[in-house]
Amino acid sequence: MEQVKINLKINGKEITVAKGTKLLAAARRVGIIIPTLCYHPDIKPTAACGICVVKMNNLGGKYLRACVTEVQEGMDVITHDAEINKVRRGILDLILSAHPNDCLNCFRNGECELQTLAANFGIDEVRFDKLKQTEPIDDSTGAVVFNPEKCIKCGRCLYACQELQNVHAITCINRGFNTVYLPSADELSQSPCVDCGQCITHCPVGAIHEHDDTQKLIDALGDSDKYVTVQMAPSVRVAVGETLGFEIGENITAQIYSAMKIIGFDAIFDTNFGADMTIMEEASEFLDRFVNKKGVLPMTTSCCPAWVKYIQEYYPDMLEHVSTAKSPHMMLAPMAKTYYAEKMKIDPSKIFNVSIMPCTAKKNEITRNDTMNSSGYQDVDVVITTREFARLIKRLGIDMLNIKAETCDSILGEYSGAGTIFGVTGGVMEAALRTAVNSITGENPEKLEFTDVRGLDGVKECALDVAGNEVRVAVVNGLKNAEPVLEKVKEAKANGSEVPYHFIEVMACFGGCVAGGGQPYGTTNATRVKRARGLYSEDDAIELRCSHDNPEIQKLYEDFLGKPLGEKSHHYLHTHYEATPKYKK
Ligand code: SF4
Ligand code: SF4
Ligand code: SF4
Repeated sequence: MEQVKINLKINGKEITVAKGTKLLAAARRVGIIIPTLCYHPDIKPTAACGICVVKMNNLGGKYLRACVTEVQEGMDVITHDAEINKVRRGILDLILSAHPNDCLNCFRNGECELQTLAANFGIDEVRFDKLKQTEPIDDSTGAVVFNPEKCIKCGRCLYACQELQNVHAITCINRGFNTVYLPSADELSQSPCVDCGQCITHCPVGAIHEHDDTQKLIDALGDSDKYVTVQMAPSVRVAVGETLGFEIGENITAQIYSAMKIIGFDAIFDTNFGADMTIMEEASEFLDRFVNKKGVLPMTTSCCPAWVKYIQEYYPDMLEHVSTAKSPHMMLAPMAKTYYAEKMKIDPSKIFNVSIMPCTAKKNEITRNDTMNSSGYQDVDVVITTREFARLIKRLGIDMLNIKAETCDSILGEYSGAGTIFGVTGGVMEAALRTAVNSITGENPEKLEFTDVRGLDGVKECALDVAGNEVRVAVVNGLKNAEPVLEKVKEAKANGSEVPYHFIEVMACFGGCVAGGGQPYGTTNATRVKRARGLYSEDDAIELRCSHDNPEIQKLYEDFLGKPLGEKSHHYLHTHYEATPKYKK
């Protein structure tokens, strides 16, 4: 069907855009940025802040909010003039009157949308008396910190939590100027929060941020008695660079290893190696369920702790579907405190394992009450996010653009392209299928790319030919998309009909970990695509593309673990889940 076009004028310039386009987007087409605080491309516009007001030249000078106003034929819009700026300045003054003046000691200092806007408007004084909000800071989860005093009531976190994640851990009370955004229980830890951090990446200011664990890492590095190891998740390498002078999506693995050496880590491993371990176990578990009929189908992935928490809370009766394989960093860490410690003759009690993750949920995963101390010690000692890591690099004055490339340390560092693509939606499925085909036929699939499971669609469903077997898969990203898929499975089980899927991948964040809650601010679909491209490019270029072909993985099983799903593998690499129902749906 042909799209209806609308002709209008913006600041005197004639443009034609598709019917339904909002004025904010239409203006961007002609290079005009209308300021806003409550708008985010991921979420439905709410017109909450009012900063985006524009004036109609031909509708009696009416003021309209550009984020929610659709273009109309013949509209004549003015986006910037002295009068409009005065209105915007008035709104900003009101927001600032209820906002603390502590930019210097705020997590978002230098990256805050309100600070940028205040600077653009040349605001050097607050014209109204300060109205302080008094709710205390909520640091109850240990992952996500909520500071209501800094909240500008834009509603972006509420939408991210309720509409994108279908979680409802944040609520809003009162109306107008008295509106307050708060956890939906007395504390965030008592709410159904799954620690995904999407409220953080969608908040324009410093009202929500990660629980900062950088000092724990600095203390460990300063303790001569400790042997400090580090590993970074697949998606960190294509995201951290954008805050350090590189292009969005640029893969800077070698520079990161180099920075890790300068920071003073004793051993540098790579979570991509852990991802190869996860595939060895998860693909074997899938085949055990699919071919040997041991265990229920469909099997779901388990490497996203926010997803695991979601199913524990909302679908506790479906926990048997979740793979028992631990997530990649939780597999690598016990190997550092056992296999590596033995080989290198290091006292495991002195090893301090650090994980650099795109994720706030990983901060809680390491202390989960199941088997996260399989080495006899806490397996991962601290998790810091990509943002915390970027701040540390800057604090230490490391010039990432001009450091020499380094490699990571064996024997827990070499990785395959399958390990790399774990960081993007569909990647875990694709990596597992490569190994599953090899396990059935003894050969790698002719075509290693399972492109049907790639891309940003919230749910990707397809039937794949895996060595002559039809495997029905669903790949889900964004928790709101998990519900229809789980309901379909439940319905089939209730009716006794054939299961709609055999294998389901779920990543809580839209796009997967490339857009995790611990990644650099400003994530949009364009960023998601570029970061994903960075990972797929590495997979395309690398010689080693399947987890089972990784020689360090083969050696680990030969020398230490035995075989996938064997006794030792079960002890170190698998876990179990407890139902923790919070809210009944
Ligand atoms: S971390 Fe995720 S689940 Fe928790 S409040 Fe934020 S968006 Fe909601
Ligand atoms: S916490 Fe942040 S995202 Fe949520 S309403 Fe307040 S300012 Fe907006
Ligand atoms: S998708 Fe990745 S970043 Fe997001 S919660 Fe899950 S593991 Fe963490």
